Parts: sequence; C-alpha cells; structure tokens
Amino acid sequence: MSTKYVYLFSEGNGSMKELLGGKGANLAEMTNMGLPVPQGFTVSTEACTRYYEDGKMIDPSIEAEIFENLAKLEGISGKKFGDASNPLLVSVRSGARASMPGMMDTILNLGLNDEVVVSFAKLTSNERFAYDSYRRFIQMFSDVVMELPKSNFERIIDEMKEAKGVELDTDLDANDLKAMVTKFKAYYKQEKGADFPADPKTQLLEAVKAVFRSWDNPRAIYYRRMNDIPGSWGTAVNVQEMVFGNMGDTSGTGVAFTRNPATGEKKLFGEYLMNAQGEDVVAGIRTPNDISQLEGDMPEVYKQFTDICKTLEDHYRDMQDMEFTIENGKLYMLQTRNGKRTAFAALKIACDLVDEGMITDKEAVMAMDPKSLDALLHPQFDASALKNAKVIGSGLAASPGAACGRVVFHAADAVEWANRGEKVILTRLETSPEDIAGMDVSEGILTVRGGMTSHAAVVARGMGTCCVSGCGAIEMHEKEGYFVLGGQTIKEGDYISMNGTTGNVYGQAIPTVEASIGGEFSRMMEWADKYRTLKVRTNADTPRDAKQAVVFGAEGIGLCRTEHMFFEADRIQAMREMILSKTEEQRKVALDKLLPIQRGDFEGIYEAMEDKPVTIRFLDPPLHEFLPTAEEDIAALSKEMNISVEEIKNVITSLHEFNPMMGFRGCRLAVKYPEIAAMQTSAVIQAAINVNKAHPDWKVVPEIMIPLVGEIKELKFVKDTVVATADALIADSGIQMKYTVGTMIEIPRAALTADAIATEAEFFSFGSNDLTQMTFGFSRDDAGNFLDYYYTNKVYESDPFARLDTVGVGKLMKMAVELGKSTRPDLKLGICGEHGGDPSTIAFCHEIGLNYVSCSPFRVPIARLAAAQAAIKYPR
Ligand code: ADP
Ligand code: MG
Ligand code: MG
Repeated sequence: MSTKYVYLFSEGNGSMKELLGGKGANLAEMTNMGLPVPQGFTVSTEACTRYYEDGKMIDPSIEAEIFENLAKLEGISGKKFGDASNPLLVSVRSGARASMPGMMDTILNLGLNDEVVVSFAKLTSNERFAYDSYRRFIQMFSDVVMELPKSNFERIIDEMKEAKGVELDTDLDANDLKAMVTKFKAYYKQEKGADFPADPKTQLLEAVKAVFRSWDNPRAIYYRRMNDIPGSWGTAVNVQEMVFGNMGDTSGTGVAFTRNPATGEKKLFGEYLMNAQGEDVVAGIRTPNDISQLEGDMPEVYKQFTDICKTLEDHYRDMQDMEFTIENGKLYMLQTRNGKRTAFAALKIACDLVDEGMITDKEAVMAMDPKSLDALLHPQFDASALKNAKVIGSGLAASPGAACGRVVFHAADAVEWANRGEKVILTRLETSPEDIAGMDVSEGILTVRGGMTSHAAVVARGMGTCCVSGCGAIEMHEKEGYFVLGGQTIKEGDYISMNGTTGNVYGQAIPTVEASIGGEFSRMMEWADKYRTLKVRTNADTPRDAKQAVVFGAEGIGLCRTEHMFFEADRIQAMREMILSKTEEQRKVALDKLLPIQRGDFEGIYEAMEDKPVTIRFLDPPLHEFLPTAEEDIAALSKEMNISVEEIKNVITSLHEFNPMMGFRGCRLAVKYPEIAAMQTSAVIQAAINVNKAHPDWKVVPEIMIPLVGEIKELKFVKDTVVATADALIADSGIQMKYTVGTMIEIPRAALTADAIATEAEFFSFGSNDLTQMTFGFSRDDAGNFLDYYYTNKVYESDPFARLDTVGVGKLMKMAVELGKSTRPDLKLGICGEHGGDPSTIAFCHEIGLNYVSCSPFRVPIARLAAAQAAIKYPR
C-alpha cells in the first residue's frame, strides 16, 4: 500500500501530532469532539520530508492526493474552489509538531482572482469586504510565497490614503480597494516579471511549497537548535475553509486562554475585535476588547464559547490557547493548543490541576519544561518598569536573570564599590581569572568580546550571576572610564540594567524583583525527587556556591575545581612562587605556603556540604594561566619575588604552548611535580580529618579525582603519591577515615581503555567538555568561529558543547561505562561537564546508567526535574 500523505480533519485525531503537526492534530480532535470547526485537510509532515528527499518538489502522486481531498472539501462545504458562482476560499496554515515561531505565516482568502472576487462580492452583498479580502490575499501571498515584503504594499496603501487625504484603512471604500488590487498586481508584475497567479490551484500548490520551504529558513533552523527540535521532523500544512470575522457588525475574531498565561490564575483571559480578520487582534491596528465584554455584545456566543473552553480544558487536561472567529453570529473554533505560559504560571497551573484532580503529580512533573525553571531562580525586572525601558544594545544571553547597577570598569573597583554597599555592573572588554573577586560581587557582568563559553560566561553561569557577553556594539573607553552604546554615553557610576536571559542592555535603572523558590516550586521539586533515580550533585569551588547548591537541592559536589582557589590575592603570590621555583626544595617551600590555605578552603566546603559527598579535582589548567602577562604586572612580580624581569619572561616563554588545551596540564603536572599532588592530598585529607573530628556524627569521605588521565600507568603513578600521603596522615590522626581515588574520563583513550583504568579508579566522572573537544578535535574556545556555518549548512543541528553528542561522544561514554563495570562492578559513575545541566543530556545519562549528574548550582533544580522526567520515560 502506498503511504497516505493527506488527511481530512475528520480522519485524524489529537494523538497524530507527529504526522499532522500540532495544529492539524488538534483541528482533527476538535472536529471529532463535534465542535464547530471550519473543515479542511492536512498535508502530513511526511509529505514535507518527501518534498526535501525529492529535491524540493511535490511528487505528482502527492499533488493528486491534495486535489482529491480538495474535491472532498468541496463536497463537505457545498462550494467549489475557483468557481465563479459559489467559490470556496481557504486558508493555508503551517503546523509543526511543536509550535515554532519562524515558520511560514498563514495565508488567508486563498482562491480569489479577478473573476471569483466579483461573485464573492455579490454573494456576500459586500463589495468592500470582497475587495478588502482580495487585496489582503495578494499582500500575504506575495509576502509569504514570493518574498515581496509586506511593507512595500503598505507603502502603496499609504500613498493612496495620502492622495485621498484620509488616515485610516477603513476610510477607503470599495472603489479604492479595487484600485488598490490593480496597483498591487501591477507592482507584483513589475517586481516578479510575471502576472500574479490567477489560477487557484497554482496558488494552492505554491503556498504548500512555501510552507515546506519555510521549515528550512534561518529563523526556523535557529529556533530548532535552541529547542532541540530535529530537522527531520518536517512541518505539516493545513488547508481550511475560510470563515470571515470581517463580514460586518455581527462578525468578529479573537484569541483566548482558559487560564491566565502570565500568572496562572484560573480565569478566562483573552481579547477580541468585532468586524476583523485573522491577526487583526494581535496586529495592534485597533485596540481589542477584553474577552469578558463579549458577554454583553453577544451573550449566546459568549455562553457557547465558555462552554467550549471548559470542554477543551477537561479534554486536554491542560490550559488551552484558542483562536476563534464569529461569522454572522456563528462561532467557529480555529485552533486550540496547550497554551504557552510563563514559568511562574506553569508552576501554578500544574499544582492547581493536581489539586483539581485533573492530572497526577507524575503528569505535573512531565508537563513542566525543566529549562523554564531557570527564570524562577533569578531576579527578574519589574514588569511595569520594563515596559517603559529602552534597549540601547544587546549581546549574547550568557547567564540568565536581570540585573541593575552602576557601571564600573575594573574588578578592583567592583569590590571597593560593593564594600560601600553599591550595586555594580562590571563592564569589561573581556574578563580573565584575576577578575573573579570583582565578578563575584557584581550584580551583572557585561563584556564586549567573547562568546557563550568565554571566561565571563562560564564563570557567571557558575555563580548564577547575570551576564551578557559579546556585546560588540559597545565602543569601550576603559581607561577614560566610559563607553558608548546605542548612541548613549555611559560613564563610570551611571546606572544601567541588563537581562542575561535575552541579552538586552538598558541605559537606565530598572528595578528588579527577587526570585522565590518556596511554595509551588518546592512542591514540584518534591514530586520530581519522588520519581528520579539519578542523583544530582553540583559543580562548586567555594563554600558560597556549595551552600547555594544545597538550598537548590544538591546532594553532593561532583566537581570542586581547585585552581580557582589560587587566583585570589592572598595566594596567587605563593602559586607564582611555586611555578617560578627552580628546585624541588624551593617548590616545596612555596607549596607549604599553599597547604594551609587550601586546607582551609576544603574545610569550608565540607562544612557547607554537611557531610554530603565531595569530589575534589586536582590541579588541571596549564601553569602559564597563573602568571601575569602585562609588562607592569611582570615588573611588580619581579620586585616582589626578587627575580629579574628577564627570568620571569623566560619562564613564561618556556611555558608557552602551541596548543595548551592538549599541553602540559591535568595529571601531567603531577607526573612531573608529584609534590603538587602530595600537597593537595594533604590539604584534602587533613581538612577531612579536622571536620570529622569537629562533627563526630559525620563521615566525610573525600573523593579525590585525577584529571586528564589517558593511560592507566599515569593514573597509577599519581595515585601512588596520593595513597602514600593520605594513608600516613590518617594513620597519624588517630581516627578512622575513608577516602576514594577516581578519575575524570575526558580523553578518548581513557574511555577506550576504561576496563584497565577501572582497576585503579574507584569512580569515573565524565568530563564532557574536554571529552567533546578531544573527540571532535576542535576546541570550544575556537569553535564559535565556524560552528554557525555548520548550523546554516545543516552539518550540525546543535552545539555539541551545550547538548551532548550522544552519537559519538555518547558512544565513548557508554563504552567506558560497560568496560569500567566489567572490571569493577560497583564503579561509581557521574558526569561533571557543562552538559550535566542539560535536560536531553541528563536523559541520556539516565539511560546509560550513571549514578549522578553534576551541574552548576543554578541548574540543580533543572537537573532534578529532568532526571525525574527521564526516569518516568525510561524506567530502569
Ligand atoms: P499562527 O500559527 O501564526 O497563529 P494561524 O494559522 O493560526 O497562524 O492563523 C493566523 C490567523 O489566521 C489566526 O488568527 C487564525 O485564527 C486565522 N485563520 C486561520 N485560518 C482561518 C480560516 N480558515 N478562517 C478564518 N481565519 C483563519
Ligand atoms: Mg494560530
Ligand atoms: Mg577537563
């Protein structure tokens, strides 16, 4: 049997979203429910896929199927397409599985031409209406199908109004509109070198093709990438008989939600306009009425509509977003779908639906988009203040939330101002590790350069601080203390506001409101915890981050990086001494200075985590990152340390690497300098001894993680130092204490030899950032330069650094899990790369049987919810 590509609304149903798209499936469902829906048919998503497979053409057999169904629609409606006496007009509407902005705009009134419009005018006894419909059709078709911008047609309309000396469209009469049609068609011919297509069948096929084409326009591709929608899904096309809300005073059109999409309040919310068509309500030409007014205007229709709302909500068991049209007093439903809503409303509605007995808590967990939780965890702008604010520029939405504060240009100033109680926005060309303290005290971080994985972006996300990076339009005068953006000059101390969720920057103060994670939020989290099997840990380097993560529900630390601890002012000096040491003795002296500091750091972290597991990663980055680069800083260091500038420069030169990412870093540092690993082990173990002694009921079991291992013998080498140091300290301590030693799996060779690695490693933690770079062979810091071309040319669909490449990198992970467990069945498995907070990656981690995911503190709730969804979807 050959595939069926076209379905009448009466042949489909609500469960056929994959085939009919969301809009088509719901139109079919409403038809089956006996609701008043203008009839039509849906060309399936498979037809769209075929269109691309066939080299962007509609196969003749599919074309035939479309016209067979058009004939059936003629039968149902009693009208004829293209007929001069009783014409059928249709709308052509796109509809993917998930509603997608960026897809083709709808074309209304298709089927009109010079002859049809004459009889249409007679039939409706309304010439003005007929020609208004016709000119709208020409405009929409030209814009959407032929790429002649709507604005050019608007210009023609403006010229006509000016010539006539009127202001409103409604001041133009039937004759004017007739003349407008002539002008539109002439303009079309002039631009396209051909007549406007008069044959309705040609109009229909061209419109269907345009919908298919729009699946691959840049806006749609971008949206898919941001929302994990595969390109292979395709879009469906709905062809539906027109109903007219613009036929006069007993006609109208509107949109409504069964509950308030901003607050979740259980009350009908919507707007309508009498004597209007299609998008007029949202276009803002006239001010629409509140839906409640319809009760006075048309009581029967209002009653029928509210009944339908209840029927639909009960049926879908979710808040509905609906479109309707009233034609001469008769109500038609044109669309329903589960309404989009703010995260705040989503929570309220989910909890209300559970309380109303409409859905189970499991369904509530499944209904909530994990990523949307983010908005609830950060400050937001006061909505009314935002309305009057002016965007002066925008950059990348690098770390979410809203921030407002006074501009400072240097990290040190940020600290100083913040100590005085000022709220500051740190604005820099780009940030570097030395800026940490300043970033930490800032409300927001704004950078001119750098992408989504720049230093500023990564660190800000970790801290949960709002960040807009790569705002290239800023004309920066750091030294002079001002910058220019969007024509506005902002001096040090001036207030600006920024939104890390949208990337917008405002040249003024906008008040913010704090996040709240009580009530419905914690209810949702409790439900999630009930269903998930994956544990959720956090990546945290400081007690502050650790505490924040515990508030968000973290069950441990999956990655505590130790290098950040060395950048602060009181220790960078000792770190530099260690690097500049010429002998082991000198190095040990420097390390001895670092030991108590690091021990204190770990004590703070164990205390903050209150006996929850903590994985500490040993020093990882290349050493040159700790040395200064600016002349004056080098000079200062030379003075402090009594080493010549030349000598320091020599060390810097000797540490220079062509490819630092694959250079002298990770466990390689500890193979050359075992004393570094010994010092870090002492700090980790002594801190645990102290904290265990202070809390006799606690059992802190440090997990020591060796980074960048690719070979079992290098792990063994470093582990020997760790074990010798740790065992001696524990033996001396007089208490019983355990610790474990494991490794990151972030080099492909480690994954390939995981069975051997697991003989020494007691746990694996997938360092998916490095594993991705090393598997793909490009660095994430450089990939920004070319990845965009990969998306536009459809080589990649998503950013492998944001969403795990389950095909390649995932295969290595799966292999490592299986090999590792083959030699150590109780091997503990986790992931600690940035992917650890990505819902689709979390689902994958659940499937391959990891024990936990670890992510930045602000992603912990997202991970809890995503883990619950994965467990419900794929029970283990
Ligand atoms: P979108 O997905 O952008 O909402 P739609 O296809 O839903 O696009 O339609 C755009 C507008 O046109 C909506 O207001 C819709 O109600 C209206 N519309 C679509 N089809 C018809 C029709 N057959 N009769 C009357 N109005 C229609
Ligand atoms: Mg719609
Ligand atoms: Mg790494």
